[in-house]
Amino acid sequence: MQREKYDVRVIETRERVARLEHRCSWCGEKINPGERFVRIRCVFEGEPFVNKFHQECNLASEADWKEHGESFEEFTMPRPTKCPRQT
Ligand SMILES: [Zn+2]
Repeated sequence: MQREKYDVRVIETRERVARLEHRCSWCGEKINPGERFVRIRCVFEGEPFVNKFHQECNLASEADWKEHGESFEEFTMPRPTKCPRQT
């Protein structure tokens, strides 16, 4: 898989509780209603867009960004092991 460098700027990062079902931009799995997720507004090559991540996928994407500073292949990245469920 070839990675390219893009001009990406983050406008806003917000943690939210899903009201509707979403799809995680990182792993492609469902974000279920009631689940916490991270919504990130960005400008990508001059075009605004929104990424939605599971919380653990957001952490994984941040770590990946710090390490590589490059784009990722949407919906195909491995979802990290979930944190122990909090009760
Ligand atoms: Zn995910």
